[in-house]
Amino acid sequence: MKYCNSLNKYSRFKTREVKVGNITVGGNQPIRIQSMTTTNTMDTIETVEESIRMIKAGCELVRITAPSKKEAHNLQNIKDELKKRGYNTPLIADIHYTPNAAEIAAKIVEKVRVNPGNYADKKKFENITYTDESYDAEIVRIKEKFLPLVKICKTHGTAMRIGTNHGSLSDRILSRYGDTPKGMVESAMEFLRICREEDYHNIILSMKASNTRVMVQAYRLLVAEMIKEKMNYPLHLGVTEAGEGEDGRIKSAVGIGTLLADGIGDTIRVSLTEAPEHEIPVAEKLLNHFKGIESHEDINTIIKNPLDSFKYSRRKTNEVLNIGGGNAPIVMADFCLKEKISAASFFGIGSNYSIPLDKWHINDLAADYVFVGNHDLDFEVPGTLGVIYNYKKWKIHKKGFPLLTVNDYLDNDEISNKLNFIYICLEDLNEELLQKVKIDKTAVFLIDTYNKNGLAEQRTLFTQLMIKDIRTPVVIGRAYANLSQEQLQLSASSDLGGLLLDGLGDGIFIAAENCGSYQSINSLAFGILQASRTRISKTEYISCPSCGRTLFDLQETTAKIRKETDHLKGVKIGIMGCIVNGPGEMADADYGYVGTGKGKITLYKEQDVVEKNIAEDKAVASLINLIKKHGDWVEKSN
Ligand code: SF4
Repeated sequence: MKYCNSLNKYSRFKTREVKVGNITVGGNQPIRIQSMTTTNTMDTIETVEESIRMIKAGCELVRITAPSKKEAHNLQNIKDELKKRGYNTPLIADIHYTPNAAEIAAKIVEKVRVNPGNYADKKKFENITYTDESYDAEIVRIKEKFLPLVKICKTHGTAMRIGTNHGSLSDRILSRYGDTPKGMVESAMEFLRICREEDYHNIILSMKASNTRVMVQAYRLLVAEMIKEKMNYPLHLGVTEAGEGEDGRIKSAVGIGTLLADGIGDTIRVSLTEAPEHEIPVAEKLLNHFKGIESHEDINTIIKNPLDSFKYSRRKTNEVLNIGGGNAPIVMADFCLKEKISAASFFGIGSNYSIPLDKWHINDLAADYVFVGNHDLDFEVPGTLGVIYNYKKWKIHKKGFPLLTVNDYLDNDEISNKLNFIYICLEDLNEELLQKVKIDKTAVFLIDTYNKNGLAEQRTLFTQLMIKDIRTPVVIGRAYANLSQEQLQLSASSDLGGLLLDGLGDGIFIAAENCGSYQSINSLAFGILQASRTRISKTEYISCPSCGRTLFDLQETTAKIRKETDHLKGVKIGIMGCIVNGPGEMADADYGYVGTGKGKITLYKEQDVVEKNIAEDKAVASLINLIKKHGDWVEKSN
């Protein structure tokens, strides 16, 4: 099943143009950047001022929540005030549950976002067995509720986003398709079919999830479905509840960047638990990473694609020490360009030497290997850390492991009897090399690329190995220079995340010159593995970006929860400003902290409510108690 124009030649998946006020989305238009206000929609001035801050930062479409009729009506005041102050940026009303609010908003603003999971359905968390007849009866019921909005949008020239959210699929979809990418696509299709019957096409589609794997698979499936049915609606890309800071940026780039690299996406929103105007430069930098990609160097066509792009499965590889096989992907740090390496240098990559105790302390984010090039190390390194030398250096002292060029590898028998890294780019693959590595249980490839479309080139390399059943483990290497720390986060997450999400890669190596500290690069590497769900090494926070429905201060609360729980490796905590995405999103979280009223918090264990309406000032302590009760708590080490 095809989900993009080509896996080896970049071009944008051509969608139809959709007018949203004075902005056109889709077709050959630039990829539009958008965000959402966090203010109370009834507070006209605050909403207008926040919108202006977003617009000034570069936001091209402003979304505002309209939870009920009164907020929908107030969109007129917001629009008028913005106009009075000289701003005509298109506004989007965000609707959950309330068709009557949508019908009012559609006459005022340029676009309405509906969530097909809750537009016509109240969630009861029931698993119902449908016959074909009773399912069809449900579709008729949805149509009755949804059709008036379609007619209003058609009459007023209002655009619509059918925005599926993994966390709020209807009971009907969950019962028939489960919590799956297929269910997400079908959820949108039910609504899309109604629009198409009415000959209404001013539609944009989205498939958001906080799980990057689910999100990417759902968008790919949606495009495949559209190609099959000869449809081409523009796509709005986003990872929901991505969180804040570094984690939020990495997670967003892994999801959105993976799709952009294949030419999918017409508008993006980077959802961060931060002020919405802070999202805009992040989105710009993410798009910036793909500038000029269309003129990339040619890459051989993939004749027979061995990848399943719609279902995760990891490429089968040999186990070479702790690399490949069933091992989690390794992190390889780069000290090659360091002027001098001392024991203190290792602090940045997670290994801390205590002089009084004469001991190494290894933290959860400690690199597994370090490449030191031609350096000599005159001290003992931690036993858990593999040191890699350039082959010529290694031949002198035979310590650690060598990094060989293809020629070194083919021309020499004097190699490690445990582990040999072979540096290759796609063009280095030849029969002689493949024959030799096929029977060599010490070989690991370190792959690199100089192609502007590096992801596609490295993916092609993987497919060639897979077609020839070469099970040599692969460490994905990418090199960057002179980037800001944030640009590096977004670029590397897009480049490496896209491969990891497809089950490719037994490790990653980020060589970044003048792009920030060793510590930040190391943390980025672990962040990418965590965001692509291939190696969990820290607590995961699934926190919503907040909007006018938010019932507590999300940024402050997230910081408070993070401070208490950031040592709980592997524990996933959902922090939701309201219940809209709450319970569904809890499917992906171990514990949930959800706003259910002003100053009231409800706690979840997975999808189940365990404590209702706790006073906000006691809720973090209650969350900790809940984690303790379920045996997931450990005390912080000093
Ligand atoms: S979960 Fe957060 S962003 Fe989503 S509607 Fe609720 S408060 Fe708004």
